[in-house]
Amino acid sequence: MKTPIYLDNHATTQLDPRVLEAMLPYFTEHFGNSASRNHEFGWAAEQGVEKARKQVADLIGATPKEIIFTSGATESNNLAIKGVAEMYAEKGNHIITAATEHKAVLDTCKKLEKSGYRVTYLPVKGDGLIDLDMLREAITDKTILVTVMYANNEIGVIQPVAEIGAICRERGVLFHTDGVQAVGKVPVDVNKDKIDIMSITAHKLYGPKGVGALYVRRKNPRVQLTAQMDGGGHERGMRSGTMNVPGIVGLGEACAICQREMAEESKKLQGMRDRLRTRLEAGLDELYLNGSWEHRLPHSLNISFAYVEGESLLMGINDVAVSSGSACTSATLEPSYVLKALGLGDDIAHSSIRFGIGRFNTNEEIDYVADKLINVVTKLRELSPLYEMAKEGIDLSKVSWVNH
Ligand SMILES: *Cc1c(COP(=O)(O)O)cnc(C)c1O
Repeated sequence: MKTPIYLDNHATTQLDPRVLEAMLPYFTEHFGNSASRNHEFGWAAEQGVEKARKQVADLIGATPKEIIFTSGATESNNLAIKGVAEMYAEKGNHIITAATEHKAVLDTCKKLEKSGYRVTYLPVKGDGLIDLDMLREAITDKTILVTVMYANNEIGVIQPVAEIGAICRERGVLFHTDGVQAVGKVPVDVNKDKIDIMSITAHKLYGPKGVGALYVRRKNPRVQLTAQMDGGGHERGMRSGTMNVPGIVGLGEACAICQREMAEESKKLQGMRDRLRTRLEAGLDELYLNGSWEHRLPHSLNISFAYVEGESLLMGINDVAVSSGSACTSATLEPSYVLKALGLGDDIAHSSIRFGIGRFNTNEEIDYVADKLINVVTKLRELSPLYEMAKEGIDLSKVSWVNH
């Protein structure tokens, strides 16, 4: 077993060697511009792109013409939200999203607020899921878009997407979902889920970085987007710019592998995820699971280790690559806004760890990480007066201390 151990698969995934293999010829012999219509070089590149378009579409139940290639999910989210906002401005100026969305959605919405759009940020329940009644009540005759992510990148919860889609369809409002964490991990079908627009990125499903896609529905309803990039009119005018052919081929191959292997892979990852949880719970008390356990990605676990300080915890497991419940914004360590939206206090949010298990992890690694955490947390708690007080039955909420 090699260290460091990578358990940060929500942040990015290792490129699958089979994906690299598929990409390589498009760096070398098939180097043409896929928009060159007059020669072999262009045709070969175009063939690679069109094969990938079908592979992406097949994974999500779409048709190839509904797939627009982009530089990744940040761009896809921007194009979806700003593209709808501009295209449907005459119909209305109201957008609904959720408090736990990725920054690429939240910051895009904030930007639109500055130019006169109104945005509703739905809160989430303690389990991280939105309240469908609140969504229904938030929709007005000025609402043009609902954008709620499929699965959350910090806590791994899966939103009730099919229900959201049904509500939007019934009210005649377009539904965009950031599908980054779900596509390739759990079955996603844009028709069953009544999704109109969906963002995807390759590097979260064992493909290369810097390439992604946007699904844009063509029928019932036909979605139109105002382009955010003007130029040669590529991608049916929605996204100009010479195509990243090797990247697109990689995204396609990554999707094809996921489609073939998802059922089996998700069982394997869920087994490892549950093994990690069981081992930690056998060795430690005062653990808190963040986010719904039932509506969850199979490879995803987010746990708060109460009574230990987040930074000491991470330092104690420095040969394990994970993410903590803290976000480095400017100079200060802020608790994650996602965990805060679930109602967690600052301390418990800081002591949280996100585990993202992936295709290349092994049970041996899981056991190593579990043993290491039990060891480190036990040691840190031996030094913690708070843990001692809690064990003695003192109600800590009634103790006052100086905040830091
Ligand atoms: C990683 C991520 C993004 C950003 O994707 P990029 O391709 O890196 O721009 C957007 N949304 C979610 C949920 C993500 O996890």
